[in-house]
Amino acid sequence: MSRVYNFSAGPAVLPEEVLREVQQEMLDYQGSGQSVMEMSHRSKDFDAIIKEAEADLRELMAIPENYKVLFLQGGASLQFAMIPMNLMKNKVADYIVTGQWAKKAWQEAQKYGKAVKIASSEDQTFSYIPDCSDLPVDDDADYVYICQNNTIYGTAFKKLPNTKGKLLVSDISSCFLSGPMDVSKYGILYGGVQKNVGPAGMVIAIVREDLITDDVLEGTPTMMKYKTHADADSLYNTPNCWSIYVCGKVFKWLKQMGGLEVMKERNEKKAAVLYDFLDNSRMFKGTVRKEDRSLMNVPFVTGDKELDARFVKEAEAAGFINLKGHRSVGGMRASIYNAMPLEGVEKLAAFMKKFEEEN
Ligand SMILES: *Cc1c(COP(=O)(O)O)cnc(C)c1O
Repeated sequence: MSRVYNFSAGPAVLPEEVLREVQQEMLDYQGSGQSVMEMSHRSKDFDAIIKEAEADLRELMAIPENYKVLFLQGGASLQFAMIPMNLMKNKVADYIVTGQWAKKAWQEAQKYGKAVKIASSEDQTFSYIPDCSDLPVDDDADYVYICQNNTIYGTAFKKLPNTKGKLLVSDISSCFLSGPMDVSKYGILYGGVQKNVGPAGMVIAIVREDLITDDVLEGTPTMMKYKTHADADSLYNTPNCWSIYVCGKVFKWLKQMGGLEVMKERNEKKAAVLYDFLDNSRMFKGTVRKEDRSLMNVPFVTGDKELDARFVKEAEAAGFINLKGHRSVGGMRASIYNAMPLEGVEKLAAFMKKFEEEN
């Protein structure tokens, strides 16, 4: 068996230890004689799995008591609608558009009310985070929305926007559990788990309790109400049992690694290997304003499309896969999530150096 270094933006690399554990339990989950994929979501075994997953996540992120943790389906993209449906009481919301995902969320919200783009970095292909210290936040805004780590463009908010007292809603899909966060600063935090946490098909939404009500937009489907899922502890209907189970294993792995402070240090160290190389390279260049660089997604180019393509191809042959940039930006992108070992990043930098010398 030989495993590649997988730099995919998502679905993405998972910790090998977790995959092995899951493999061990595949045919007989802890003496139950069945796999987790085969058991009832109302069984005692599964009840323990989901409760433990939630408890471990709460511990890792230090989630305050007055926030609910919801395991939902529909991907991060369904949250683009679910958020306005549940929060748009005044039918006004402000969006900071720093990439494709934030733009999609903003466009979706326009179906439900007045969604105002109060800042954007589209003028420079989303290569920076705009100054958000004094934005024209609407007096009536039900919330201010951000995408905290822009997976496609490789930018990240280093400082949260000044929402002028309004609720902050954040898409943390690609920086979920990459380091500590102060949950109390947000109304809602949510992320698709397939980037930095677990297998595709689930979103974890962390929602402040007072925002979970029956007062939602008219016509909101039962399944799109946070209250439906909160009241049923994420078991209103059959959840993504598999993803909850594997995410639970990843939470245990993160705890064993030392928690999110340690992950942050590890991620900073990994990102520095690549960024330092890029800053000193004659061939490869980072595409993002330095102070806004993401620790998770590192986009870069050579400036020559043919050379980019050759690099991606040769890298793949050498065991570094999924380095092609998003179809909307071209070039390359290395996603270096929690489960990517330092060794993988060091080897990639060494490969880039060699490629540079040979071309
Ligand atoms: C991938 C991604 C999404 C979309 O996720 P789906 O689960 O495929 O809907 C949304 N936001 C961010 C920041 C992402 O990286």
